[in-house]
Amino acid sequence: MKTAVFPGSFDPITLGHVDIINRGLPLFDQVILAIGTNSDKKYMFSLEERVRFLEETYKDEPKIKVMTYKGMTVDFCRKQNAGFILRGLRNAIDLEFEKSIGQTNFKMSGVETLFFITSSGKSHISSTVVRDVIRNGGDYHFMVPDAVSKE
Ligand code: ADP
Repeated sequence: MKTAVFPGSFDPITLGHVDIINRGLPLFDQVILAIGTNSDKKYMFSLEERVRFLEETYKDEPKIKVMTYKGMTVDFCRKQNAGFILRGLRNAIDLEFEKSIGQTNFKMSGVETLFFITSSGKSHISSTVVRDVIRNGGDYHFMVPDAVSKE
């Protein structure tokens, strides 16, 4: 069974995440959407809400499993028998950041990171922008899946 972990905060899940997840899905038997929990970080949506958004978005996709974890992503991958991490690249800043994390993870564990370059027209979407728009009462629905829109 070939398993990939897609780790993130998903605060909230956006159509940018959905793009990467859907494109990674055909390559694996199982993709675990893993919400990393960090007690120092302040989130807009609670862990329960973030889990619910992911579960609702992928309720008809049996290859997707939603989980939460604490600690290092590679330790979580090992526990889940996942040999791959899935990540998205929007721009050169993402690349620089992800490069060192990917290299470190591989050195520590042999877990490979697979990168997808964001689909054209989606690289402006980020959870940070969505949260800013929500805070300011703007229209954010075109950037998120229906499960988040309904909130
Ligand atoms: P983190 O808190 O680890 O940055 P995020 O939930 O913000 O987690 O993002 C998780 C992954 O989704 C990252 O690999 C990020 O680059 C990717 N991602 C987020 N938005 C987009 C987008 N618009 N296009 C492609 N990848 C994206």
